[in-house]
Amino acid sequence: MSYGEYYNPEIETLSRSGIGALQAERLRATVRHCMNSPFYAKRFKECGLTPDDIKSPADITKIPFTTKQDLRDTYPFGIASVPLDKCVRLHSSSGTTGNPTVVLHSARDLDNWSTAVARCLWMVGCRPEDVFQNTSGYGMFTGGLGFQYGAEKLGMLTVPAGAGNTLRQIKFFTDLRTTVVHAIPSYAARIFEVMQQQGIDPRRDTALRILAIGAEPHSADTRKRIEDMLGVKAYNSFGMSEMCGPGVAFECKEQNGMHIWEDYYIVEIVDPVTLEPVPDGEVGELVLTTINREAMPLLRYRTRDLTRILPGECPCGRKHKRLDRMKGRSDDMIILRGVNIFPIQIETVLMGYEELASDYLITLETLDDNDFMTVDVELREGINVDDYNRLLKLEKDIVRRLHDEILITPKVRLVPKGSLPVSEGKAVRVKDLRKQY
Ligand code: AMP
Ligand code: ZN
Repeated sequence: MSYGEYYNPEIETLSRSGIGALQAERLRATVRHCMNSPFYAKRFKECGLTPDDIKSPADITKIPFTTKQDLRDTYPFGIASVPLDKCVRLHSSSGTTGNPTVVLHSARDLDNWSTAVARCLWMVGCRPEDVFQNTSGYGMFTGGLGFQYGAEKLGMLTVPAGAGNTLRQIKFFTDLRTTVVHAIPSYAARIFEVMQQQGIDPRRDTALRILAIGAEPHSADTRKRIEDMLGVKAYNSFGMSEMCGPGVAFECKEQNGMHIWEDYYIVEIVDPVTLEPVPDGEVGELVLTTINREAMPLLRYRTRDLTRILPGECPCGRKHKRLDRMKGRSDDMIILRGVNIFPIQIETVLMGYEELASDYLITLETLDDNDFMTVDVELREGINVDDYNRLLKLEKDIVRRLHDEILITPKVRLVPKGSLPVSEGKAVRVKDLRKQY
C-alpha cells in the first residue's frame, strides 16, 4: 500500500543501499567535524583514533560511547563542535534521570530539526489546512518549540497553548476547531476527563482527528484508550533533547513502530550490560549517532532507552528502520528483591482493566528490613467505590495478574478518581522510599 504522501519523497523512500551510502558520507563528515570539539578531540586522541579510521557505518563500533555523564562533565559548552557565535539556541532535557543536560543548536540545526518534525506530522496526515495545538511547555523542554517550528514549517495554523490550564485548552479546541494536538499521554487522558466534567463530547463538539503522543513510555493499550476517548488517531512520537527533541522517530499511519530518520541518525541497539550489539529484533539499549548536526554532534550516544528494531519492511514505503515502542529505560528499571521490573509492565497489566483509569503510582518502601511494592491505581469515574466485595475481588485479580507479570506480589490499592497527584509535566510513576543500605 502506498500513501503517495511523503514530505521528503526522495529521502523517505530512499533504498537501504541509498541510506547506507548517505550515512557513510555523513558519518565521515561528522567525525571530522567532531575534531573541533574539545571533548571529542581529546577522546579520539586518548583511544588513538583518527577520522581516517572511520570509512563506513560499520566502522562506528571503533568509536567510544558518549554518555549523559559526559554531557554533565563538559557542562555547559565543552562538547560543542562550533564556536558559540555560531549557536542560536540552547535546550535542556527534562531531567528524566538526574540533572538537566544542555544541547546547543546552530541556525542550520534548527532548520533541519523543523524539517524532521514537519516530515513526521505530514506522514500521519497533517496538512496546511489543519489547526495544530501544542500542549507542551514552551521553555527549555523541546516538546514546545520543537513541535512549534515543525508545525509552522508544514504550514498549519499553530496554537502554542503551552502546558496546563485544561479548561482553556478545551475552549481553544472547540472555538478554533483544532484538528491536531500534541500532548503527553497522561495529559491526553486528563483532557478527556475535564471534557467529560464539562459535558463536552470530543466527537460531537470538536474537530480533533490526530494526536501526537510521546515523551514518556506508554503501552499500546493506553494509546488505544486515548484514541477511543478522544475519537482520534494517536501516533507515538519519540525524541530526546540530546538528539534535538521531537522528530527523531515517529509512527506512520500503520501505527506499527516508529520510523527513525536514518538520514539524521545512525541507530544501534546494544546489550546495556555488555554493550555488545544485539541481533535485530531483540530488545536492548538504543544508541544514536547524529550525522547531520552542526553545533553539537554526538557520537554513539547511550540513550538508556530500551527498545528493538522491528524486522521487515513497512507497507508505507518508507525504508527507514522502525523502533518498537519504548520498553522503559535501562536506568529507571526497578530492582525489587533482585527482580528487574519496568513500570511499563505494570501499566500494561493495569490498562487491561476497564474499571481502572489511567493514573497510577508505584511506591517502593522498606518495612521491617523487607522491601515492598504498593501500586495505587485510580478507578474510573462511575465505578461504585462502596461496592466493597466487587473491589476486593478486583484487587485480588490485579495482584494475581501483576504477580504473573513481574514475579513479585505487590499490594494494590484502588483509589477514587482524582486522588493521585496530578503532574503537569511528565507523569511521576515511581516513588522509591526504600531504605538505602
Ligand atoms: P527529554 O530529553 O526531556 O525530551 O526526555 C527524553 C526521554 O523521554 C527519552 O530518552 C525517553 O526516555 C523519553 N521518551 C521520549 N519520547 C518517548 C516515547 N514516545 N515513548 C517513551 N519514552 C519516550
Ligand atoms: Zn511506515
